Amino acid sequence: MSGDREHRPLVVMKFGGSSVANPDRMKNVARRIIDKKREGNRCVVVVSAMGDTTDDLIDLSKKINADPPDREMDLLMSAGEQISSALLAMAIQAEGEKAAAFFAPQLGIRTDSVHTKARIVEIDGTRLQKEITNGNIAVCAGFQGLDASNDITTLGRGGSDTTAVALAVALKADVCEVYTDVDGIYTADPRVVPEARKIERIYFDEMLELASLGAKVMMNRSIEFAKKYNIPLHVRSSLNGNAGSWIIEEEETPMMERPIVRAVAADKDQARITAIDLPDVPGVAAKLFGGLAESNINVDMIVQSSSEHEIGKNDIAFTVASTDLKRAVERLKPVLKDLSGGSIVFSDDVAKVSIVGVGMRSHAGVAAKMFKSLAAAGVNIEMISTSEIKVSCIISRSKADEAVRRLHAAFELGRQAPVAAGA
Ligand code: ASP
Ligand code: MG
Repeated sequence: MSGDREHRPLVVMKFGGSSVANPDRMKNVARRIIDKKREGNRCVVVVSAMGDTTDDLIDLSKKINADPPDREMDLLMSAGEQISSALLAMAIQAEGEKAAAFFAPQLGIRTDSVHTKARIVEIDGTRLQKEITNGNIAVCAGFQGLDASNDITTLGRGGSDTTAVALAVALKADVCEVYTDVDGIYTADPRVVPEARKIERIYFDEMLELASLGAKVMMNRSIEFAKKYNIPLHVRSSLNGNAGSWIIEEEETPMMERPIVRAVAADKDQARITAIDLPDVPGVAAKLFGGLAESNINVDMIVQSSSEHEIGKNDIAFTVASTDLKRAVERLKPVLKDLSGGSIVFSDDVAKVSIVGVGMRSHAGVAAKMFKSLAAAGVNIEMISTSEIKVSCIISRSKADEAVRRLHAAFELGRQAPVAAGA
């Protein structure tokens, strides 16, 4: 093996389902990959299932079994990526370049056994290393792994991002490029806010907030990985050669140069559950949320208040993903019985709108400005939560788009970046 080859940059390129949705797009992606290799890079490609394949497979399963077991769901869903990786390798080969496709049992990606939401525990990159050293473009099925009993697992919806970043870490890649059907990360969803701008650079922490707040550009866990191992991410379009958005470690820029708010996001897949008239004694919240945690249900905002009806009782309201609502309500029934008190109401008609930016750390009044602009739009705020770098409000789902537009305007996110003084 020549020393030169060793020093060629290693690039992990991840292509989402829409980028490979049909044979033409697949061929276009193959050419992008080949160009990258011919520029002197070693390439590891991670691909999602074509278009809506995963959704279609899920729909199909529901027609067969109303409540299919997760183990078989994983085997079923992983087929989507098995197909796309094989086809993409063929597309590259058809253009005369060396490629080889791999799915879970060949990738060395070990996960825990939490089917449909598995976490990667270890990666053995030996095989992939060998392939790229031999000049192959390695085309890997995203979203899947193997657990300790060699059962196929999947990493949760959107999990190919995590595959890509985890492989980038394991193979010590120079960069992880995430190709998608948008040009990058925007200050807001451009379909909702026409003035939204593409963000050139955004910090891991901001992106982490955005990803968990409904900006569906990348899966949250993949950004956590990238941050932990400091792998720069470049989110860009698979349809043009434009530079996209870089997701990077926070730099030492003067605070004054940072936008206070980087972006506005809305998550419409939220539901609110309120447990009413709970006994006001130690251990109630622990039981309530312990049960949900056991069932792998993520709880987001939590607000406790004293009951409207009864002295010495509490109400606890919280939010979950709408897809978890039914399971959460079922899981809480025995818990309430156990607490001998309380009842549950829920609403599937809420959305979470958020503003995010590291500049908030050093500015007062950001939340107040958000509340004021929502009030001016006649939007009622049902719940609020904040972190150092974000403010989120639960509001009625029907008001979400309007709220995002108002906030985008209020924080002047559509404006061009200010020009340097004297220019
Ligand atoms: N195909 C899977 C999904 O649709 C994984 C992915 O796209 O990243 O969720
Ligand atoms: Mg997909």
